[in-house]
Amino acid sequence: EELTQLLDSHVREVPDFPEPGVLFRDITPLLADGPAFAALVDALAERYRGKVDAVAGLESRGFILAAPLAHALGVGMITIRKAGRLPGPVTGVDYTLEYGTARLELRPETVTADQRVLIIDDVLATGGTARAAIELIEGAGARVAGLTMLLELDELRGREQLTDYPLDSILRY
Ligand code: 5GP
Repeated sequence: EELTQLLDSHVREVPDFPEPGVLFRDITPLLADGPAFAALVDALAERYRGKVDAVAGLESRGFILAAPLAHALGVGMITIRKAGRLPGPVTGVDYTLEYGTARLELRPETVTADQRVLIIDDVLATGGTARAAIELIEGAGARVAGLTMLLELDELRGREQLTDYPLDSILRY
């Protein structure tokens, strides 16, 4: 539909980034386009209004989407960050990447018990990042109300790791 086409027209495909053989989807043209960025945030706000108590963004492109969405919904934003960036106390989850491992951290004090948290990121690839975020939110006693991704890369099958949660992606490739 119209929104999908507008957003899709602002996603750039970059071959061999950040490594040879990887086709990277670059969302910087979309963010730089006022009407496209606004249409994205408005659509997400409409979808989740009244349904979530907080929005958790995954560093770093997830932050760019989480902050305006949280503001539009009138709820707080939770930052889930790469290792070593947050002052303690933090909880952490290690997870596997295509090459090597990574760690995400959360300050559990930033969520409250039974809060309905929406997790947002720019891209769902293998799903490892999203899974780690779920573990952190649930480990802190809150509930994952859903996950939303600007873009889902179907062939990497991340969705299969997330079957217990409502997962929305706006663009699918
Ligand atoms: P996953 O853990 O699902 O394999 O990878 C998802 C994470 O990697 C997301 O945080 C996302 O920002 C990043 N990522 C993976 N592939 C791409 C891509 O093609 N474009 C962008 N913008 N981010 C990607």
